[in-house]
Amino acid sequence: MQLEYVSTICPYCGCGCGINLVVKDGRIVGVEPWKEHPVNEGKNCIKGKNAYDFLYADGRLKRPLVKENGSLKEASWGKALTLISEKLRNVEPNSVGFINSGRCTNEDLYVLQKFARVVMKTNNIDNASRFCHSTTVPALVSTVGSGVMSTSEISVEEADCIFIAGVNIKETYPLISRRVQRARDNGAKVILADPRATVTARTLADTHLSLNPGTDVALVNAMMKIILDEGLEDRDFIEKRTKGFEELKNHLSSFNLNDAEKVTGVPAEETEEAAVAYAKAKKGCILYNAGVAQHSAGIENIVALADLALITGNYGRPGTGVNPLRGHINGEGFGDMGPVPVFYPGFRAANKESAKLFEGYWGVEGLPSLAGMTYMDMVEKCSILYVMGANPMVSAPDTNRVKTMLGEKAFLVVQDIFMTETAELADVVLPAATWVEKGGTTTGVDRRVQRINKVVEPPREAKPDWEILCKLAQIMGFEEKFSFGSPGEIFEEIRVCVPQYSGITYDKLKEAGGIQWPCPSEDHPGTDTMFVEKFGTSDGLGHLQPADYKSPAEVPDEEFPYIFTNGRVMFHYHSGTMTRKTERLTNEVPTALVEINSDDAKEKGIKNGERITLESRRGQIAAIARPTDNIGKGTIFMPWHFSESGANVLTGPSAGPPSKMPEFKLCAVKMRKG
Ligand code: SF4
Repeated sequence: MQLEYVSTICPYCGCGCGINLVVKDGRIVGVEPWKEHPVNEGKNCIKGKNAYDFLYADGRLKRPLVKENGSLKEASWGKALTLISEKLRNVEPNSVGFINSGRCTNEDLYVLQKFARVVMKTNNIDNASRFCHSTTVPALVSTVGSGVMSTSEISVEEADCIFIAGVNIKETYPLISRRVQRARDNGAKVILADPRATVTARTLADTHLSLNPGTDVALVNAMMKIILDEGLEDRDFIEKRTKGFEELKNHLSSFNLNDAEKVTGVPAEETEEAAVAYAKAKKGCILYNAGVAQHSAGIENIVALADLALITGNYGRPGTGVNPLRGHINGEGFGDMGPVPVFYPGFRAANKESAKLFEGYWGVEGLPSLAGMTYMDMVEKCSILYVMGANPMVSAPDTNRVKTMLGEKAFLVVQDIFMTETAELADVVLPAATWVEKGGTTTGVDRRVQRINKVVEPPREAKPDWEILCKLAQIMGFEEKFSFGSPGEIFEEIRVCVPQYSGITYDKLKEAGGIQWPCPSEDHPGTDTMFVEKFGTSDGLGHLQPADYKSPAEVPDEEFPYIFTNGRVMFHYHSGTMTRKTERLTNEVPTALVEINSDDAKEKGIKNGERITLESRRGQIAAIARPTDNIGKGTIFMPWHFSESGANVLTGPSAGPPSKMPEFKLCAVKMRKG
């Protein structure tokens, strides 16, 4: 039998790299480079090079499971869907919630939100972006009018100063890190703000600002104060393209750089060096992620970054802007499609006007017009929860509490590819097809809409998410509204409802590299750089806003003296559902290693490889210690991919409006040997 090569997109991070899957006898047997793909030019990180093993791992869900007498038993699709439909028919709109994930395609997410709104008449729908970039959207919408990456990942290499904040880019976005390296090879200066001396700090950054966790606003305000004091702001840009400068200037006038040094722990001369380099750059580019966004003060952090870019004129040209790096393959699409409580598709606010608009699009009445519940509110308050492709038992904060709340649900449905920790608690588990078993589109970090091709058949009775939802909607009497026969048909409806996608045709997406939205007409090539002439705000101006430092929701004290923070490693992805079932990746990093400062380790008598226990106010976990000088005294870091040492057992749910972002990146813990 001949080998067949089918090109598609890597299923992991939002970089959206192309891969060629090697197929033999209907089974994927390897990954080959896709050299013509403009994003990655044939290069892939280790996850991309092994992006198929997990498809054939033990534990793939292949038939529906229904709980009987306390245990899950195989059942027919008819029985499983009928049971779900009966439960859903008898629940109030505000008592049901839908949780989804950026692992799903645009088509899956579009159909899910349509199901929630049309069939269940609820806006109770949210996704894991609540835990990543729910701070990004209000911060960037209020300053520049849109929460998206404004340059393209390819154009990053045009920058001559790159300020990376709160992201270990070499491990978590390796192919964007490659662009940063290229820029640096061409003379760009790379500044990193990160509490840890990560591989990015050691090998990519020219300047590493090792700030105390959670003090980003103070650092960025200090940079702006220096820029204004030294007259390095871009007066022309401020005058023509922004408003609110005087207010910001007044706010910063009383800002004390000595206080900033004490709060951030960054020596004043290092802050000044970074501020001057960024302000003097012709094209300054800011890249940030969870280390900035995943805080209860995430909005203030990001507003400050936007202010910094605006006062230096670093917007509207390739290689500039304030650019959120989104973690999932469909990291941008799972905002665009509207599977969130505050937006209908195309970022239309969940209000009466949008409800009317979509009643017209969909030919229905009575769509919900008030914002729905956010992720954790649904986990806490809804009696019926439908979870598609997400694993709150690992990715939501305060795992013990989440387990209790999920266990108390009147009815829990989980639709996934494996028996996850959340699926184990479900009343019905539905087997889903993976990305290569269904086709569709995804939209990556830089608004790049790409087509993923169906490569192989799903195992046994597993089905695409969108198809499962359509069948359920049909059983519930909505045949005509959910009569989609293919991802292409769904994409046609998306084009109508999401203006940013209106010029993108499913056929045009066959080309390598896809199309970046906004794409207003079929002859439009897509948009590399946003805000070239005006911002997305109502008046087209960038809105400068003062942002104040506030201390994190939980700080160390005598009982819990260490700051605990967490993140990702190169070899694993999110809750590990796929990477931990990939032999090569698991061999590299089989378990959670906890980084603790070498002096802290000595004080506690803890040696490399020894077992330790970490305890917060919410729970305790056991893991393996890795003393290192790459982390500051008093700080502890661990990756969060490993449910058996679940970082989120420790983290707290504290989250305020409007983002409802938990304080993921910071909580207080104590540590002991053994
Ligand atoms: Fe896949 Fe991201 Fe690695 Fe590219 S950088 S190969 S998209 S995991």
